[in-house]
Amino acid sequence: MSPGFALREAHAHIYQAGRALNMVDLAACESVEEVLEALGACEARSGAVLAHGARPESWVEQRWPSADEIESVARGRVLVAWCFDYHALIASRAALRAAGIDERTPDPPGGIIERDDQGRLTGVVCESAALRVWESLPEPDAAERQRCVQAGVRALVENHGFVEIHDLKAQRWLGGVLRSVVNELDGAVHVRIWPLLEDLDEVLETRRTWESEHVRLGGAKIFVDGTLNSRTAWMLYDYADGREDHPRGIAMMTPREIEEAVRRCDAAGVPLAAHAIGDAAVRAVLDAIERVGPSGSGFRIEHCELVDETDVPRLAELGVIASVQPCHLLYDMEALARGVPDRLDRVLPLRELIESGLKPGEGLIFGSDVPIVRADPEDSVLAAVERRRGDGPGPPPIAPSQAISREQAWECFRSTVGV
Ligand SMILES: [Zn+2]
Repeated sequence: MSPGFALREAHAHIYQAGRALNMVDLAACESVEEVLEALGACEARSGAVLAHGARPESWVEQRWPSADEIESVARGRVLVAWCFDYHALIASRAALRAAGIDERTPDPPGGIIERDDQGRLTGVVCESAALRVWESLPEPDAAERQRCVQAGVRALVENHGFVEIHDLKAQRWLGGVLRSVVNELDGAVHVRIWPLLEDLDEVLETRRTWESEHVRLGGAKIFVDGTLNSRTAWMLYDYADGREDHPRGIAMMTPREIEEAVRRCDAAGVPLAAHAIGDAAVRAVLDAIERVGPSGSGFRIEHCELVDETDVPRLAELGVIASVQPCHLLYDMEALARGVPDRLDRVLPLRELIESGLKPGEGLIFGSDVPIVRADPEDSVLAAVERRRGDGPGPPPIAPSQAISREQAWECFRSTVGV
């Protein structure tokens, strides 16, 4: 039941969402056996079996398939299956070979090539090593890119009724492709793109050629920390089950670098969107914005999964937008309960953020992070209101005192274009 006004998806990855529509979706699998069945049944389009949505933690066996199991369904083909959070994947031998990875290959900086106790590759690769495998696949040509972007936009418009979409890690070429895709939709949708800060100059240079009322540059994106599931989100306190080398997760940027990013964006006349999931990352971004005091507005923190009590009022004070995806709570409940059991009250403090002065739909905005999770806005409304999955058994609600009303939750999806 939608609210009767135009909706905005404030955090999407359009191209990947379109591309994912052509991949095997493992989200509904409940066991390694089901995963192998789904992968084995795939008629590899373009010669490779591609899948996404794997959640090994939620499978009966609570493990990835073994290298031999992967091979039994890959049957010599290139097979790559992403973990839902896009920070790890499993790859068949042919896929590893194509990426130049064998048993003697050392872990790349910021990546892990998993091996068993005998040093044999398990097929699981993480972070930068996963990207290396992914990037060694044949890159879709321009026509295929266009099809993916088109499918991604159409799914958001037609399945969920969004009239405004923000892409939060836009490829350098996305603006140009969106121009024609959006034209075909007769102006039914407005897209705002946020390329990586390192791509900003290039995008600014081409801006004239693609920008219109409907497709616009939103600002630039940086990553300040990692993710909750990989325990790389940067926290103020140790995780209960953290990584030995990084008990509080990983700061991907120094305070100085964050400040520099704020300054660069402000000089370019665009806001910054900072990916910050852990409470230490959120604080670091607020500190940087406070120190620089940008003259422009619209600076955003993406995710804000944990926010320390003392930092809550700072967003409204500094004019920073909280761009949140409550729907992740539905998937992350177990991971949160294991990782930050003593800080659960700091998870998505939506009520406090509103009480501190963030206006739903303006200072507090919702999105999904599709294709990491599905884009259905009802999921975020459910998470924001109930703080747990729907009825029935399941873990208890997370920080129920931070619940907001259905009306407030929908308001966070209200589009502000054309008003
Ligand atoms: Zn994202």
